[in-house]
Amino acid sequence: MKRILIILLAMVAFQLNAQDLNLYKKVVKELSSPKYKGRGYAFDGANKAGKYLEKEFQKAGVDEVVCQPFKLNINTFPGKMQLLVDGKKLVPGEDFTMREFSPGVKGEYKLYYIDTLNYNSEKIFADLARPENKDAFVVCDFWFTYKHSADFKRLQSKAGCSNAGLIYTWNEPLKFYKAYGERVIEKPMIWVTASSFPTNAKSVKMNIENEFLQDNECFNVIAKVEGKRHDKCYLFTAHYDHLGVLGKKVFFAGAHDNASGTATIVTLAAHYAKNRPEYDMYFVAFSGEDANLRGSEWYANNPSAPLQQVRYLINLDMIADNNPVQYCEVSDPGMKGYELFEKINSQKGYFKSLNRGKLAGNSDHYPFAQRGVPCIFLMNDDGDAYKYYHTIHDTWENALFDNYEPIFKIVVDFIEQY
Ligand SMILES: [Zn+2]
Repeated sequence: MKRILIILLAMVAFQLNAQDLNLYKKVVKELSSPKYKGRGYAFDGANKAGKYLEKEFQKAGVDEVVCQPFKLNINTFPGKMQLLVDGKKLVPGEDFTMREFSPGVKGEYKLYYIDTLNYNSEKIFADLARPENKDAFVVCDFWFTYKHSADFKRLQSKAGCSNAGLIYTWNEPLKFYKAYGERVIEKPMIWVTASSFPTNAKSVKMNIENEFLQDNECFNVIAKVEGKRHDKCYLFTAHYDHLGVLGKKVFFAGAHDNASGTATIVTLAAHYAKNRPEYDMYFVAFSGEDANLRGSEWYANNPSAPLQQVRYLINLDMIADNNPVQYCEVSDPGMKGYELFEKINSQKGYFKSLNRGKLAGNSDHYPFAQRGVPCIFLMNDDGDAYKYYHTIHDTWENALFDNYEPIFKIVVDFIEQY
């Protein structure tokens, strides 16, 4: 009889875990789907994802869900996205991508290749001043431009030189960033893979449309589970926005970055809604992270409860990977908590080890760390999924599920013991 009971209990425990993983996978898959257009600002993708999350938190059984609006200026590429080099069509996201602050461009342009072996800036500017080179696109290896940044700054400005724009070659895979998209520079700037772009082409034909969104409204989604006590609280954070689209067809699914972390806090909310915690808990899904921590910065200035009441903040960003070593960053007041994370991990062996890096402005924990909040940032980087980071291949199909359970468990153990 006792044996049957143990088997039954084991089955229930297994089901609970399985349930969490199923919910986790469901949310990751949904957020990575084409419906949300890469959770950027074109086509209202991020906001649609936010509305979906609001419903998921409600279904998780939390006590309250609030959407916290804020505004940002952001450059987007919702329209035409065509580039032909000597008549050969390049594929957006694979062969070329835009810098986030690039304007659109339409027309046919001559190419002017920078001679990186015999670099001579005087000759370059003299060449480009010649009538036949007026309106040329300058082509150069991206890393080389760093060695002569003053010259390349000049090439970017209309007053500095008459070239029409810049094409930087880069070794694949091409990555797209959104962090500096709050402005648009004077000339188009395009990144191409070195392998897809010829070294001696004559011209490019382009039709690329951008749209700068001024005061674009987006929102953080804040779910609350009430604890037995209200004098202190825990914060679980993850950003749900991502990089959006490159034209009408190509979108950045962002399964690892960061549908994974968002889905995890949804399952944590479901867990604590069923297991009433000691202290109040807030599960905050931020928007605007890939646009430079805009949502978390806003929340840190307008928190649900005073930041001095936060016992600990746990930020999850990119956990759909399989690295057995778990990366983290910790604020100074968070070090006591970090020692507990280390202790739990060495007892339970969730990860081979924790690897604590230097605190940096690379995710949503940072605005809170700057304000003295005890916090940890957990990011599973450098696994097999990491090679897709900020590429169009960070998809549901390429997401890995090895680390969801250890993350979930280490967090729950931590809350129990802290
Ligand atoms: Zn990102």
